[in-house]
Amino acid sequence: MTTEMIYSTIEDMATKVLKDHKITEAPIDPKKVAELIGLSVVEVPHDNDDLCGLLLKGDKKAIIGVNALHHSNRKRFTIAHEIGHYLLHKNENTFLDHHENFDMVKFRKNSSPKTQEEREANSFAAALLMPAKLLKKNFTSLQGVMSNSQEIIQLLAKKYAVSPDAMRYRLINLQLISAHN
Ligand SMILES: [Zn+2]
Repeated sequence: MTTEMIYSTIEDMATKVLKDHKITEAPIDPKKVAELIGLSVVEVPHDNDDLCGLLLKGDKKAIIGVNALHHSNRKRFTIAHEIGHYLLHKNENTFLDHHENFDMVKFRKNSSPKTQEEREANSFAAALLMPAKLLKKNFTSLQGVMSNSQEIIQLLAKKYAVSPDAMRYRLINLQLISAHN
């Protein structure tokens, strides 16, 4: 598969998960999505701030662990990222995710197979938490009433309960804003 095909497949998978469970409004609750597809989510406090989350797959059950000490937006992204590993990377049973696995900018420059998986899980998380169609609709209506794209990013980040950086990155990927915004 070409890279472009991989990412459009990831986008389609996230869309399908939301559609199958009739989730149509922001903010998306990734914990609910995880539970709907049969994953348990446990919050565990971990002093190592670098440790974001993990995915453990057993024969019958899979569990997502998330660092309880992190900000709720960060936990939401971690859960969505682990769902991405679960759906996309069937051959592996364990993922342990540190802060660096979520660094989208750094990951753009690196191309190891491990990095590729992290990039795919991040793309899935973004597509799940900021569904393309819904976000485009919200962006267009905001653009009709305000011209400052920083303000639009802030408003949308709040509405979708993601960090402004994650929202900015998603809007760039959807080609709704340019990279220098
Ligand atoms: Zn990961």
